[in-house]
Amino acid sequence: MIVVLKKNPDEKQLNNLMAWLKSLNISIHESAGDIHTILGLVGDTTMVDIDLLRALDIVVDVKRVQEPYKNANRKFHEEDTVVPVGNTQIGGGVFSVIAGPCSIESEEQISLVATAVKAAGATMLRGGAFKPRTSPYAFQGLRGHGLELLLIAKKLTGLPVVTEIMDLSQLHLFDDVDVIQVGARNMQNFELLKELGHTNKPILLKRGLANTLQELLMSAEYIMAGGNNQVILCERGIRTFETAARNTLDLAAIPLLKRMTHLPIIVDPSHATGISALVKPMSLAATAAGADGLMIEVHNDPKRALCDGAQSLTPTAFQDVMNGVRAILPYAYQMSKEEKQ
Ligand code: PEP
Ligand code: MN
Repeated sequence: MIVVLKKNPDEKQLNNLMAWLKSLNISIHESAGDIHTILGLVGDTTMVDIDLLRALDIVVDVKRVQEPYKNANRKFHEEDTVVPVGNTQIGGGVFSVIAGPCSIESEEQISLVATAVKAAGATMLRGGAFKPRTSPYAFQGLRGHGLELLLIAKKLTGLPVVTEIMDLSQLHLFDDVDVIQVGARNMQNFELLKELGHTNKPILLKRGLANTLQELLMSAEYIMAGGNNQVILCERGIRTFETAARNTLDLAAIPLLKRMTHLPIIVDPSHATGISALVKPMSLAATAAGADGLMIEVHNDPKRALCDGAQSLTPTAFQDVMNGVRAILPYAYQMSKEEKQ
């Protein structure tokens, strides 16, 4: 971090600043120029509050040369993180496909979809029990009962399950859930993230509707700072000026995040587009761009789905996506190997 000071800074304020930085175990290299004095801060500057520094009277400018996320940073952890989940894993060369309905609606529905996606090659089952809906009058999910039904489908198929938590008060219901999802709307619910950092569950962290990649990584950092390093990132489209699709899928986020972080990256083409016909092309594109997996909404009867039917695939359409993904996966892995070299 570089701190530019005013000419002839007040000595008392400068001493206070130096003492504060030294108390954070940071070494300071001072160079006095004709116009400004520059402080080069060396050490772990993640604890330095950059806004506080900027607000000081004697400070003209502050520049970070190191990213503010440390645990998630590829620079300090070159190897890809692999997250073990039940009998499978996310990352490390295994392509994960998480499939299932937007919401769990009944035992029959979740069991049917679970069996179908397993047969097509999905590695994990998704299904929402606590649903973050834009309208308070829309179906809110079966909540605790939905989780029970999801666990029945887990037993039936042996697939590990992924489901969303919306509030800390629900955490005690997640003991048998394999991966806890934090949805886009909760990406910056820092109290929730902190508490999930104290669990030993893998966390699927979805990118917020209007959040930068750095903000996504800072949210991952909240979980990791609590000791839980099992974080999986999920690109699910962001809000832009374009309204033709539900969101804009940021495909460049995949290779960008691969450089910024060692955490695995899953792409959700269903929420990213909102249109079932776009799910296949975007699944293939995400696979080619180096994603570690996909999360796809599948429903046995999309027209009658209680949530997100327009973007849900039938089991047959899902099978077709899986065939396409399998066909290009060897090329995708080859490309990502070349990118690393
Ligand atoms: C979901 O995956 O069920 C969901 C609500 O997605 P998002 O948080 O990305 O909108
Ligand atoms: Mn959905």
